[in-house]
Amino acid sequence: MTSKPKVLITGASTGIGAVYAQRFAERGHDLVLVARSVDKLEASAARLRKETGVSIELLPADLTDKAQLSSVETRLREDASIGILVNNAGGNVGGTFVTQDIADLTKLVTLNATSVLRLAHAVAPRFAEKGEGAIINISSVLALAPEWATSVYTATKAFVLSLSQALHGELAPRGVYVQAVAPAATRTDLWNLVEEDKRPPLMEVSELVDAALVGFDRREAVTIPHLHDEAHWQALEAARKVLLQDTGHITAAARYAASK
Ligand code: NAP
Repeated sequence: MTSKPKVLITGASTGIGAVYAQRFAERGHDLVLVARSVDKLEASAARLRKETGVSIELLPADLTDKAQLSSVETRLREDASIGILVNNAGGNVGGTFVTQDIADLTKLVTLNATSVLRLAHAVAPRFAEKGEGAIINISSVLALAPEWATSVYTATKAFVLSLSQALHGELAPRGVYVQAVAPAATRTDLWNLVEEDKRPPLMEVSELVDAALVGFDRREAVTIPHLHDEAHWQALEAARKVLLQDTGHITAAARYAASK
């Protein structure tokens, strides 16, 4: 039992989520680990318990299954010892929009977007009431790249980025910290969908998570570990704000004047 808040991490069986589990355990946080692969969760939990001495509970769940997602929501709503949520579980579907199966795409939206929304909504009122807590949402730099050929994945990540930025603004004054992490290409199983010779250079997962945790400790709203020049992000944010200021008109732009 530690005095630090317990951390619930989704998609903790492999990749980025597994390293978040390792790092939070090393920081002395007890954990609740969520994913479908019980064997991988058990192996990782056994190792981390031995290495760090923290208490680790497994909460196996398929987040695309309504009842199982609901059980994780209930846990987040009712367990006052959980003070940090890491919404990391995610996936992708191979193919292009016209070849992808609509059932697979609908499941993808449930996993990458709806589960993030529902789990954040399950804890946010409790965190806000208490005046503390943190939510880490794993987005992607693809959130900024709709022209790259992964339409629905990209759209889900844009949803996560936008939701996180909005919640950061809404909840920070109530003492709750919300961070969006937007990785670019990182060496995990997610890349198994892409042929090896078509993969870009990949960042190692530990490099990504350690950088994201520096952003977490600094209470950044958006953390993009692969982005070397922070001025590029600041310029994008500034351009967005200038554009929005130019949308407060009650007449349509002159370029849309109907031709007489
Ligand atoms: P990964 O190694 O494939 O890990 C995905 C995790 O999500 C696994 O733990 C998996 O566990 C879990 N998961 C998948 N489907 C699930 C479901 N239906 N219910 C519950 N858990 C499920 O990939 P990763 O790269 O670490 O992905 C983590 C996050 O980073 C994702 O949100 C991804 O979109 C994002 N991301 C990754 C990259 C990259 O280049 N790798 C870049 C940007 C963003 P089980 O299979 O055991 O359920």
